Amino acid sequence: MTNNHPFHDENGDSLHEECGVFGVIGADDAAAITALGLHALQHRGQEAVGICSYNGSEFTARRGLGHVAANFSTEEAIAELPGHMAAGHVRYSTTGGSGLRNVQPLYAELASGGFAVSHNGNISNAMTLRQELVQKGAIFQSTSDTEVIIHLVATSRYPTMLDRLIDALRLVEGAYALVVMTPRGMAACRDPLGIRPLVMGRMGDAVIFASETVALDVVGAEFEREVEPGELLEIDFDGTIRSHRPFGNPAPRPCIFEHVYFSRPDSYFAGQSVYEARKAIGAELAREKPVEADIVVPVPDSGVPAAIGYAQESGVPFELGIIRSHYVGRTFIQPSDSARNAGVKRKHNANRVLVEGKRVVLIDDSIVRGTTSLKIVQMMRDAGAKEVHFRVASPPTNHSCFYGVDTPERSKLLAARMDIDAMCEFIQADSLAFVSIDGLYRAVGRKGRDSGCPQYCDACFTGDYPTSLTDLQRKRHADDQLGLPMGKVA
Ligand code: AMP
Repeated sequence: MTNNHPFHDENGDSLHEECGVFGVIGADDAAAITALGLHALQHRGQEAVGICSYNGSEFTARRGLGHVAANFSTEEAIAELPGHMAAGHVRYSTTGGSGLRNVQPLYAELASGGFAVSHNGNISNAMTLRQELVQKGAIFQSTSDTEVIIHLVATSRYPTMLDRLIDALRLVEGAYALVVMTPRGMAACRDPLGIRPLVMGRMGDAVIFASETVALDVVGAEFEREVEPGELLEIDFDGTIRSHRPFGNPAPRPCIFEHVYFSRPDSYFAGQSVYEARKAIGAELAREKPVEADIVVPVPDSGVPAAIGYAQESGVPFELGIIRSHYVGRTFIQPSDSARNAGVKRKHNANRVLVEGKRVVLIDDSIVRGTTSLKIVQMMRDAGAKEVHFRVASPPTNHSCFYGVDTPERSKLLAARMDIDAMCEFIQADSLAFVSIDGLYRAVGRKGRDSGCPQYCDACFTGDYPTSLTDLQRKRHADDQLGLPMGKVA
C-alpha cells in the first residue's frame, strides 16, 4: 500500500511502504485473533493499524495511528469489532500520508454490498488508473493506491464479485498481497509473480491469512501453505475453499529483500527459514569477502543472523560489540536526515570492552543511504577499534523499489551515487564489501542470476523490474516533455 497522491512525486522519499496484512474467517473471536496476528507483523509497519470485522450483517472498522498495542490491546477496542470474520493491516511510515483516511483496511459500500481490503505491495500503474477513473467521475476518499482496486471492482460489469475482483486485478500491475472481505466471505490473492508474501493457516475450523508465518505461530494456527503467486482463494462462511488461477502461471519472482531484511527471522518465506537463509548469506559473504579480524560484530538487530553465519564460516568469534536500545523506532523511518542521524545514536551504543584494540568486522544486512553505516563505523572507532571492516549481506542497493519496500529515490541511494571504493571512503571503513548477487542466490538455495532465469525479484540490486512500471514511464515522459533532467529514478 502506497500513497499515490497526484501532487507527490511517486518516486519521492518515504512514499513507498512495506505493510503487513492479516485475515481470519470462521473464528469466534476474529478481531482479537487479528489484533494478535498484526502484533506479530508489527515490524512490517508501525505508522498505523486497522481492523475491520463482519458479523453476518454489518461491517465495523476501527483504525488508529501508531502501534497495534496502542490501538487494540483493550477489551473495549476488540468488543467494538464483533463477528466471525476480520481483516487487518499494519502500515509502514510515510511522510506523504494524510492520517486516518489512508489507514487500511479500506472499506466501501458497493452495489453488491460491503467490500473491505487490506493490501501489502505497490501498484505500479495506480496513478494512471486513478486518473482514468477520476476522468470517468470516480471520487476518491484516500490517496492510497489500494483504493484504485475498490473503484475498479465497483465499476466492473461482471455479475459476480469473484469475476469483478479478477477483472479489476487484470488491470492492475505491480505487487499485491490482498485480503478481501465481502458479505459472501473472504478472498486472498497474490500478484501473478508473487512479489509480496502471503501464507495460509488453519486454527480449528478457522482459515487464516497473513503476510508471514510468524503471525500464524503467534496466534496458535498451523501453517498450511503459501498462497501461490497469482492464486486467488475464496473462502465461504461454511469453510469451503476454492482456488482460482486467473493470471495463468508466470514464473514466480518473490521479493528477495524479504530474505535479506524485511521478514522476521522466525518466519518462513518462499519455502525457507528466513533465519537460516540469512545465516547462509553471512556464510557466503565470509567465503566471498574474507578479512583478517579479531571479532565479528552484527549491526543489531538486522545484521545478527548473517553475522552468526559469517562468524561460523570464518572461525572469527561472534561478539555483541554493539548494543541496541529497544525503546526507539527504526532509524530509517525518520522524515529528515538530521532526525535519522540522531536516531542512530539513540538506538545503538558500542560495547567498549569488546571492541577496544580489536580488528572488527561489522555485518549489516544492507546499506541504503549509508547513514547508519557511517555512524556505526565512527562508533567503533570512538570505542577504540583498531580496524573497522564493513561486510554487507546483500549486494549494493542500487535501484528504488516500486513494489512496496520503503526505499528512497535513487539519487539518495549510496550505491547509486558511488562505486564501492567511494562508498568505503564515505562510511570511513578500512574495507567494504558486499555479497555478490549470485552468492545471494546460492545462499537462498537457488541457481544464480546467470542461469538466465532469476527466481526472485531483485530489482533493488539489479534494476531488472519484472513488471511494467507505467506510472514511472509516464512521469519520465512528462519530465522529458518539460525538459527536466533524467536519472532521478530507477
Ligand atoms: P541507511 O542508514 O540508509 O544506509 O539504512 C541502512 C539500514 O536500514 C540497515 O541497517 C538496514 O537494516 C535498514 N533498512 C534497509 N532497508 C530498509 C527498509 N526498507 N526499511 C527500513 N529499514 C531498512
